[in-house]
Amino acid sequence: MMRSLLRSFSNLILQPNCLLCDRAAREPICPACQRRLQHYQRPDPAAFWQGDLPLWVWGHYAGALKQAIARLKYDNKPELARSLGFWLGASWQSSPPLSSRPVLVPIPMHATKQQQRGFNQAELIARSFGHYTRLRLATGLVRVRATEAMFGLSPAARDRNITDAFQLAADFQRRPPRQPVLLVDDIYTTGATAREAARVLAAAQIPVAGIAAIATTRERP
Ligand SMILES: [Zn+2]
Repeated sequence: MMRSLLRSFSNLILQPNCLLCDRAAREPICPACQRRLQHYQRPDPAAFWQGDLPLWVWGHYAGALKQAIARLKYDNKPELARSLGFWLGASWQSSPPLSSRPVLVPIPMHATKQQQRGFNQAELIARSFGHYTRLRLATGLVRVRATEAMFGLSPAARDRNITDAFQLAADFQRRPPRQPVLLVDDIYTTGATAREAARVLAAAQIPVAGIAAIATTRERP
């Protein structure tokens, strides 16, 4: 009795279910779900690494990857950010596009919203990215204005919605980083959020190398 109890207890601990399909799995994401996600991995993460604000991106925001990000954010699965951040870190590490080592700055969430959700997925992704790449993570920005969800807004409305949403965090006001900043977010769509974040940093003479994101809706650079 005791032994079977112990066994079922250790199974519970050692064999958590896959975060995506709920089947028993040894890893946080089971091999079948990993394959489904990797179907959306872009062959060249550096394809968008160009222009004023270069983008380093792991995958295409569609299908299983889109569902996984939704699950992470709206179904309270912050552990998913760890795997996705690792994959993003691995892609960066395999061919880093910068000669210097940037400081990772996650796109911040408004405090009220973060309290509701319990976590900021961009921060969790950046943390995991940083573990993999050994890049330093910093709270460089704070979100001082709650904004509407960007989903469904036109590009012009997105720009208006995000203007003045960020401020330099106390850390960066006291001690601006010497290295350039790499912003980190979960999804990159029109880039309005990233541009506004970069504008605030640039106004404080902090160079921004680009942004790393798990997924983009963009098809072409
Ligand atoms: Zn699975």
